[in-house]
Amino acid sequence: MEIAKTIEEVRQKVADWKKSGFKIGFVPTMGYLHEGHLSLVRESKKRTDRTVVSIFVNPTQFGPNEDYQIYPRDLERDQKLLLEEGVDLIFYPPVEVMYPEGYKTYVEVKELQDQLCGRSRPGHFRGVCTVVLKLFNIVQPDEAYFGWKDAQQVIIIQKMVEDLNLSVKVIPRPIIRDPDGLALSSRNTYLRPEERKAALALNRSLDLAAELIRKGELNAEIIRRRMLELIEQEPLARVDYVEIVDLKNLEKVEKLDRDVLIALAVYVGRTRLIDNLRFISGEVEK
Ligand code: AMP
Repeated sequence: MEIAKTIEEVRQKVADWKKSGFKIGFVPTMGYLHEGHLSLVRESKKRTDRTVVSIFVNPTQFGPNEDYQIYPRDLERDQKLLLEEGVDLIFYPPVEVMYPEGYKTYVEVKELQDQLCGRSRPGHFRGVCTVVLKLFNIVQPDEAYFGWKDAQQVIIIQKMVEDLNLSVKVIPRPIIRDPDGLALSSRNTYLRPEERKAALALNRSLDLAAELIRKGELNAEIIRRRMLELIEQEPLARVDYVEIVDLKNLEKVEKLDRDVLIALAVYVGRTRLIDNLRFISGEVEK
């Protein structure tokens, strides 16, 4: 396994692989890896000949009052985990390599970027799309793996790939959870023990939604209200949003009569957590 810090190193390595006819899989991350990230790596290992993982805490996707400075970082640990998974190349660029002085170009996916998390994190998806497109151009993968944990991100990246005629195939993968149901996130490390317990309200509210759907409830507002009531019983939790939206255009729906995303963002203490389930072809995926 090699670690590349420059774009040239990555290009060289990938060009050699492509000459040998290898299929390239790519997993973009911000590091501080957990089983969610590793599940994407394993899928890439299964489906392709060479796997590239990027570790880059992307400053352009953080707002001015967000956690860019304190976002957890541990390259040594990440390296060990990726070596154990048999990853072929880590791309670990310094910020100046991705955004040299005078950098000016940004990518936006209109409308989709303003819904859900985009409302409370203006500019977030512009930063995500910009860095992901840059990484796609650098790595030139055949396939790239993204977790449904960040459902809006999946939908926006898929739209960017479609609209800009990129040749990469985007592969969304299931959410990996702790045994008690909390979705894994690098940000879970911010939670104090009592907050970690309170954070289970997110998963519980999604379980409630799933149960209501199984019982035949198709009214979005009824499901949403029940979820809100459940979360509001948790004193350490403060809802940012709970929304039921069309899975394609992220617009609110009144009835679950198509594929929908039930997504929520909740502050637990000062930590903002997200989670979701999808209702696709009449089946709940969580
Ligand atoms: P991040 O390092 O948070 O930018 O995440 C990198 C990739 O891992 C993104 O595609 C995330 O959606 C994915 N990911 C993060 N947490 C999970 C999880 N619990 N289950 C599955 N994928 C995840």
